Amino acid sequence: MSDRDYYEVLGVSKNASAAEIKKAYRKLAVKFHPDKNPGDDAAEEKFKELGHAYEVLSDPDKRAAYDRYGHQAFSGAGAGGGGGFGGFGGFHDPMDLFSQVFGGAFGGGFEEFFGGGRRSASGKQRGSDLRYDLEISLEDAARGVEKELEIEHQTACSKCSATGSKGGGGSRPCSTCGGRGVVARQAGIFIQQTTCPDCRGAGETVADPCSECHGEGRVEKPSRIKIRIPAGVEDGTRLRSSGNGDAGVRGGTSGDLYVFLHVRSHDVFERDGSDLFCRVPLPFSTAALGGELEVPTLDGKASIKIPAGTQGGTLFRLRERGMPTLQGSRKGDLHVEVQVEVPTRLNSDQQDKLREFSESIGDHNSPMQESFFEKAKRFFGS
Ligand SMILES: [Zn+2]
Ligand SMILES: [Zn+2]
Repeated sequence: MSDRDYYEVLGVSKNASAAEIKKAYRKLAVKFHPDKNPGDDAAEEKFKELGHAYEVLSDPDKRAAYDRYGHQAFSGAGAGGGGGFGGFGGFHDPMDLFSQVFGGAFGGGFEEFFGGGRRSASGKQRGSDLRYDLEISLEDAARGVEKELEIEHQTACSKCSATGSKGGGGSRPCSTCGGRGVVARQAGIFIQQTTCPDCRGAGETVADPCSECHGEGRVEKPSRIKIRIPAGVEDGTRLRSSGNGDAGVRGGTSGDLYVFLHVRSHDVFERDGSDLFCRVPLPFSTAALGGELEVPTLDGKASIKIPAGTQGGTLFRLRERGMPTLQGSRKGDLHVEVQVEVPTRLNSDQQDKLREFSESIGDHNSPMQESFFEKAKRFFGS
């Protein structure tokens, strides 16, 4: 590489402004671009030289080092002893630098060199969407509920009003990625591109960063966020709390918070869409004689009429005592399955009475048994 003075290469004075340097580079880089000078080695050399000069002079830190130590600041010999310039090591591909300066603004034959301009001019970036998993009870899902969530997320920095800047210093191209927002790393035979860790893909860093947020314009803080869960939500329902994700970088739009609902299984009720099911024990005497049976519902107790001779497994339907629907249409039903319960601790007097009862009834008053034996007879062929 030639040791020509970088200011001389760009044709600017030693105290040229950043804008003057950029302008000079643009003009010369277009002139000596390899696309315009196919097969011209001298032009290609010139193009590379321009790239190196611009890379150093466009970065305030590198420029300061260059002003002080000259080319030594970036050579192997000077880097170690010069104090703290190790990071300035190798130069970027001049093509990358070129495309960064022109962004996507160039048309025609240069297009293939230029990536799209995916970042905004101000370095603003939308914040990430966040996910929060929330467990709620079936009762809450049925009635709807307001919950307060405590989340850790990026919030706008109040010290710098989310600008990231201490004063009015503005921003400058990120020196780590040369303003591209991505850094390339050799991984075996592949080149791996990752988001730049310093500017997080913005391509720029703040010249005079805020001490609170270090130039990001946002800080990680816990927040309490109220969300209203509508009646009728189901397990897996996803609610969006707009703007409550991470705040954007330097005043960029905030992401959203997505709340994933998990409805806890209930001790009494099973849910199927908007319908509820439950099993209720029914004393065998009530099953035989008929009567009232108290059953649970989501809004408290209810009573159902048990006709005489009710068999175990019979389903009773309570209209519109199930779950509401999110659309607010008709509520589901509650289905009650009765389980006839046989007493387990009978005293001898009760046992005698039951025997007496059994003899009196004979085998002619058991409809299920009769039909069962009918079928069994056919089965055994007798
Ligand atoms: Zn700040
Ligand atoms: Zn960067």
